[in-house]
Amino acid sequence: MGTAPRVLVTGAGIAGPAAAYWLDKAGFDVTVIERAPTLRPGGQNIDVRGTGREVLSLMGLENAVRERNTGEIGTRFYDQNGTVVSEFGVDEQEGQDGPTAELEILRGALSQILVDACPESVRWRFGQSVGAVADTGSGVDITLSDGRVDSYELLVIAEGVGSHTRDLVFADQSEQRALGMYAAYGTIERAPQDDQWWNFLIAPGSRQVSLRPDDVGTTRAMLNFLADSPVLEGLGDQEVRAVLREKFSGLGWEVPRILDGFAAADDLYIDYLRQIVCPSWHRGRVVLLGDAAWCVTPVGGGGTSLAITGSYVLAAFLSQSDDVEEALTRYEEWMRPVVEEAQHLPPGVPRIAAPRTRTGVKALQWGTRLAARPSVRSLVERLTSGPQAVQDLPTLDRRPDPGRTVSSTGTA
Ligand SMILES: Cc1cc2nc3c(=O)[nH]c(=O)nc-3n(C[C@H](O)[C@H](O)[C@H](O)COP(=O)(O)OP(=O)(O)OC[C@H]3O[C@@H](n4cnc5c(N)ncnc54)[C@H](O)[C@@H]3O)c2cc1C
Repeated sequence: MGTAPRVLVTGAGIAGPAAAYWLDKAGFDVTVIERAPTLRPGGQNIDVRGTGREVLSLMGLENAVRERNTGEIGTRFYDQNGTVVSEFGVDEQEGQDGPTAELEILRGALSQILVDACPESVRWRFGQSVGAVADTGSGVDITLSDGRVDSYELLVIAEGVGSHTRDLVFADQSEQRALGMYAAYGTIERAPQDDQWWNFLIAPGSRQVSLRPDDVGTTRAMLNFLADSPVLEGLGDQEVRAVLREKFSGLGWEVPRILDGFAAADDLYIDYLRQIVCPSWHRGRVVLLGDAAWCVTPVGGGGTSLAITGSYVLAAFLSQSDDVEEALTRYEEWMRPVVEEAQHLPPGVPRIAAPRTRTGVKALQWGTRLAARPSVRSLVERLTSGPQAVQDLPTLDRRPDPGRTVSSTGTA
């Protein structure tokens, strides 16, 4: 009697748990390791759109996600005096998702839903990471951070944009393409004036500010600014807060309150936005998935949907073939065009969306007003509707017998 082929997934964010769910369905023996000591609850509002939503529905999780909806009813652009410039309400969307999608959820809540959906057969190990990877040709020997060495048929790296294990295996071919923008996210106290809109301010000096509702009685705030180099790298928490205060000084609206809120926030998350570009997402028995493979950043949008889609597509092709490397190639061929489309930013983005001058801000405000007109809205919705594959999702075969051979070495 054989055993199911063993797969190690690293990272329990969005891609990791989704992959664990589908790989288990496909008949693999799945272990997930996560560097953090517990599931990371943090993160702001994220959305599931396009093909990712189709996969979520195949998992039977659309309702669970809807129940944790942040309650956002649309996106509103403001000027510095607090006057609404333009708005995109969810109600007025005609079948497609606009800037605010129908399925908006806190990142931590989605991660928990995906973990909870996994069957008990999936093993979870927190506080662990990969120390070394040795491809044996028919599998991978993994040295874990606690010194233990384990063998698997496949290693799936789902560690997010800053993946350390990707750097171990793909250092010679992965490229980080910086967008020249910092994003700082944090949770602040909800104030009486906070409503159910995603309230967005574009301010001179290449700065963006936003406030979003959540479903747990607080408000999620964001401060973005352009920076030609990663100026915050290596700074301590208090120094980062001081730089943010200086960068956003002099702005009215809700900005002083956000800066005070960030001073107290324990979940401040700072990201120097960068796309990950990797000419190949697999090497031997190691495969990249989610942001670790193709981070699109919130500027491109759709990272969560791509992570969920990729998890299914990977498991589906692995379920269809006994040849792991062929399955990984097919996974990559299927995902590549969808990812490239999501990573392709219009010329000048994100600079164009964060003007330096008052005149630039006025022009952009005029642009959002134009885009909000009913005659143009459907175009905006098409542009923001999220990663949509042109091809059908591959079939995920029913769970094979445990005695089935998957690896070319005849492990059974
Ligand atoms: C704390 C946090 C907050 C975020 N907040 C936002 C947000 O507000 N807005 C937004 O658009 N996107 C946010 N993101 C990114 C967003 O979750 C991803 O773009 C998207 O969901 C794709 O998910 P992923 O699973 O590929 O990566 P991630 O969601 O980044 O998950 C990667 C996971 O791998 C773990 N990990 C990292 N290195 C290792 C290692 N060496 N070994 C084991 N585990 C490792 C991380 O702790 C994390 O749990 C956030 C990510 C994190 C981790």
